[in-house]
Amino acid sequence: MFSHKDTTVTKDTVVHPSCLRVRKMNRIVWLFLDLIYPRRCPGCQTPSDRENRHWCWDCFQTIEPFPLHGGCDLCGQRVEGNVTHSFVCGACQSDRPQFDRARAAADFSGSLREQILAFKYHHALWMRQDLCDVLEGTVRTFFHPAVIDVVMPVPLYRLRQRERTYNQSALLAEELARRLGRRLDTQSLARVRETRTQTRLNAAHRRTNVAGAFQVKRPEWVAQRCVLLVDDVMTTGATLDECARVLKKAGARTVWAATLARRKS
Ligand SMILES: [Zn+2]
Ligand SMILES: [Zn+2]
Repeated sequence: MFSHKDTTVTKDTVVHPSCLRVRKMNRIVWLFLDLIYPRRCPGCQTPSDRENRHWCWDCFQTIEPFPLHGGCDLCGQRVEGNVTHSFVCGACQSDRPQFDRARAAADFSGSLREQILAFKYHHALWMRQDLCDVLEGTVRTFFHPAVIDVVMPVPLYRLRQRERTYNQSALLAEELARRLGRRLDTQSLARVRETRTQTRLNAAHRRTNVAGAFQVKRPEWVAQRCVLLVDDVMTTGATLDECARVLKKAGARTVWAATLARRKS
């Protein structure tokens, strides 16, 4: 069970009740597919016991979601100890981010890390629903889905997307928007130049690396809107911050950001 204090995603809630008819049809298709290609859990290689999913319940439960409290109000950065009061971390105090709130589901480690990398670089697209379960739990815990006007993925540079053939964040954003019943917008925000991979850069270099990399193509779709940005992994938050900067400049009222995992910076 992937659960927070206020949100619990269980066997029964991962599929919305309005999808029951589709679910019945899907079940027949899945039972048939399971006969030909049995779904194996990528964590332990046993046949998965979750319908339409790949992680088994045991492996799914090893993903430990960040608790509701104990993170920076703005970027979600955790501090050690039992902190229940609200606070803003040192990094956000010295350089206030442009997004209003960013939250990751869990640490970038273990089976979650492996599957994010497989989904991103090795076409493990069958993990989309499993990963979206993790993301949905986080959004329902830390944000207010009813307030969100548009769900927007962090875009890839055009040539990079052609090379990879898909944008992993867009696949997550699309499924998340469907589940939340919010509008998906993959057109308004564009990455207008290629950026170096951020993995080996320090915080200052990450900021200069993404400066000017994004542009809002349709400001009229963004103005006065509450935008939920979606990405796979957050480290210092420089990419999300730069996206939020151009969105705010184009008139966005609120910019929230949700990611599957947070890498230690
Ligand atoms: Zn397993
Ligand atoms: Zn912070």
